[in-house]
Amino acid sequence: MNDNLHQLRCCGCGVRIRREQAGSIFRCKDCGDLFEVEYPGWDLAAGSASRGTDRPNAGALRWVWRERRASSELLDHSGVWRFRELLPILDSFGNAVTLREGNTPLYHLTRTARSLGIDQLFAKHQGMNPTGSFKDTGMTSALSVAKERSYKWVACASTGNTSAAMAAYAARAGLRSLVLIPQGKIAWGKLSQSMDYGAVTCQLNTDFDGCMKVLSTIVQQAPVYLLNSVNPYRLEGQKTPALEIAEYFDWSVPEHIIVPGGNLANSSALGKGFREMKALGLISRLPKISIVQAEGANPLVRSFAQSGGKSIEPVAANTRATAIRIGNPASWRKAVRVIEETGGWCLDVTEGEIAVAKAELGLEGIGCEPASAVTLAGLKKLKAAGHVEASDTVVLLLTGHTLKDADYTIGFHRGTLLEPEEAAQVAGEMAGLRRDAVEVEATPDAVLNALGEIEGRWDS
Ligand SMILES: *Cc1c(COP(=O)(O)O)cnc(C)c1O
Ligand SMILES: [Zn+2]
Repeated sequence: MNDNLHQLRCCGCGVRIRREQAGSIFRCKDCGDLFEVEYPGWDLAAGSASRGTDRPNAGALRWVWRERRASSELLDHSGVWRFRELLPILDSFGNAVTLREGNTPLYHLTRTARSLGIDQLFAKHQGMNPTGSFKDTGMTSALSVAKERSYKWVACASTGNTSAAMAAYAARAGLRSLVLIPQGKIAWGKLSQSMDYGAVTCQLNTDFDGCMKVLSTIVQQAPVYLLNSVNPYRLEGQKTPALEIAEYFDWSVPEHIIVPGGNLANSSALGKGFREMKALGLISRLPKISIVQAEGANPLVRSFAQSGGKSIEPVAANTRATAIRIGNPASWRKAVRVIEETGGWCLDVTEGEIAVAKAELGLEGIGCEPASAVTLAGLKKLKAAGHVEASDTVVLLLTGHTLKDADYTIGFHRGTLLEPEEAAQVAGEMAGLRRDAVEVEATPDAVLNALGEIEGRWDS
């Protein structure tokens, strides 16, 4: 079994509490900040003389994690629980609720690499998870905690993907789920999922940040387990893509990892994953982790510009990349730490740049959500600014599946997505990327004629 001896540490004031003390309210009583899961048995403190008695051995871990890929155990098929020694958050791993998440592909982006002048460019596609986004990796861990602690109801406020993941895992575990979503601002693909999986879905006439406010009161009044990313157990699962990436590169890490930033839990979790691997001797250095936001939802970018990341001013968020339409990110302090300790950057990109980047990934056979495409748009800017070397190995973290938001893709190709002034800034790039469907008479000649018109010479 498992020595579940973790504790929770406040990222603001550093106070530590026992795991039972958090309940369903994941804010520090003293300073209001978020907690993170800590494993005192590992004794990771720099310079600490006494090595923790439960400190896992790096060589043994690498071996057992590889062996599990050939195992027939259900838990070993999960790309999250395969690494369970690094997330000992359950009393019994038998309580883990899994849909075979994780183990997502890492695609080589050869064409894009060539056009950007970078040797090695990869996309880690977290949209290839069971419900189509990286949220599954965090939901399997946090919902398993809810189940082990005998909650009957779980809840989240969501821009869509968190609720899709929560509803699915709750259904698997036999728990009921409550979803609060902003009216009219979530993609249909996502809303359909929470209905499909039997969640009670409430559309509130407010934005994501407003939904969050309502829910934080509800969880103080009712026995409902909160599954937003303020829940630190989400991040324990969400750190496993960092382990998968390191394992893929045979425990030498890439120079640079680029992630989208919304509520900033994903970037925080990846940073935690790499930090813990380094402390345990699994890897010898950290990759730079850079965070990309949409220009209309860029509170972290502003925070760095205005206060060097010391404080944050909420903004009224507005972007078509609905998964990162967040104006008051909960995990901003954790994310600032990740950028500072890894030497990464924080930047924003325009609506036009996002749309173009998404279409370019599509031409490599890699579909993703608009929120995921900010990573490529950001990489172009980082390369132009000299922050990425030609010899660097770069990994883009693609967070969601393209079918989550088919309306966006169709709008782009039909030319109805962007406002004229947004499109004007990227007109040159867009011209070669748009592939609207054409109406053609039902004869072979008409189709061949259309081919000739669209492609010039098509039969060479
Ligand atoms: C949730 C989500 C994000 C943002 O992740 P945060 O942890 O909120 O920063 C980005 N892309 C997709 C597809 C998401 O579902
Ligand atoms: Zn505190």
